[in-house]
Amino acid sequence: MKHLGIFGSTGSIGTQTLEIVRDFPEELSVEVLTARKNVTLLENQVREFRPKLVCLYDEAAAEDLKVRIADLTGVRIVTGMDGLLTCAAYEGYDTMVAAMVGMIGILPTIHAIRAHKTIALANKETLVTAGHIIMPMLKEYGVSLYPVDSEHSAIFQSLQGLRYEGGVSEGHPAIRKILLTASGGPFRGRTLSEMQHYQVEDALRHPNWSMGQKITIDSATLVNKGLEMMEARWLFGVEPEQIEVYVHPESILHSAVEFVDGAVIGQMGMPDMKLPIQYALFYPERRRMVTKPLDLFTIGALHFEKPDTVNFPAFSLASKVMKAGGTLPTVYNAANEYAVARFLKREICFTAIGELIEKAVANHRNIIAPTLEEVLMAEQETYAFLQGCGD
Ligand code: NAD
Ligand code: MG
Repeated sequence: MKHLGIFGSTGSIGTQTLEIVRDFPEELSVEVLTARKNVTLLENQVREFRPKLVCLYDEAAAEDLKVRIADLTGVRIVTGMDGLLTCAAYEGYDTMVAAMVGMIGILPTIHAIRAHKTIALANKETLVTAGHIIMPMLKEYGVSLYPVDSEHSAIFQSLQGLRYEGGVSEGHPAIRKILLTASGGPFRGRTLSEMQHYQVEDALRHPNWSMGQKITIDSATLVNKGLEMMEARWLFGVEPEQIEVYVHPESILHSAVEFVDGAVIGQMGMPDMKLPIQYALFYPERRRMVTKPLDLFTIGALHFEKPDTVNFPAFSLASKVMKAGGTLPTVYNAANEYAVARFLKREICFTAIGELIEKAVANHRNIIAPTLEEVLMAEQETYAFLQGCGD
């Protein structure tokens, strides 16, 4: 039996994880649930899955939940960052599903590693900004981390069978290149001047995947692929130059690895996040999954294009930021989180997201090999800078 702590249980990844728990009640139990403030959904989840510990980050929502589930015994409710950290360190679970969105995930993930929890990681922002801290910690604490992001799961699946001396994150001399695929998002083939006029609804209309709002906007700007390059770099111990992005509009090949002998091994399947979540939960085993089978006859052809670096400037910037490292990935990520939140509130136009990221990155004095405090400081400074700009 695996005892799960699902951090971000009310989101897209969190709710799909709970669907898998429903499919395997003999093998998976839920001990911890956390969310920001969706009290209604969390109440339903608590009633169904009966975790021992629950956190609502928002204090008023946590108070509300206490009243709503006063009839239940044996459920403790905590709140705020302290509450999230209490959950992360709680002894009653063994596997953290890190499915919260944004840099808020860093500290809980670090606390879970310190408490020797296995990590199933969807929360890419944590690795993008603190990968240089997290990856050595995994080794120090003897903790396993399995990717949930579909591309990274595909890469991880493609690496099975390689004999590793250290962990996967140490890299392997047999890997020549990682082929990271991207759908291209809803605005593939469009120009920047066309994109200027696109509204929130247009950007949320992803062609192949149904996901949370923030990552859906990130897919439209291609920032998501920029973040995923940085995520891959840490997860698989490769150099930035070894990662190549392929726009693949069908989203059938979820990513691949080219080996030094020229062999390319990839993972294909219908776009469905339940597969990578389930793989991370049961690794190295595979479990039955009720899914639409991949029918290559119906799909007919798979297409691959180079990413459009002219009309997706935030994507080109990501390569430079990844190579520079230090606190720049944090600034890139924090500026994006800030800009996407404002775009979703309809305060800025779509193309302003890339412009704000560029502004923040240009303004920043990079700190190489930053401490955790410096990473969190760079996040705050980026927010303060962009607010101060009046943007
Ligand atoms: P979502 O917006 O649907 O859900 C986010 C979850 O995080 C919610 O439960 C929310 O309550 C919680 N959360 C947000 N802010 C919080 C805070 N301050 N404190 C505590 N909890 C907080 O997001 P999602 O699409 O499920 O994505 C989650 C993560 O997984 C992201 O990092 C995303 O990039 C990554 N990811 C998602 C998908 C996908 O298909 N949705 C695919 C690959 C990777
Ligand atoms: Mg992905």
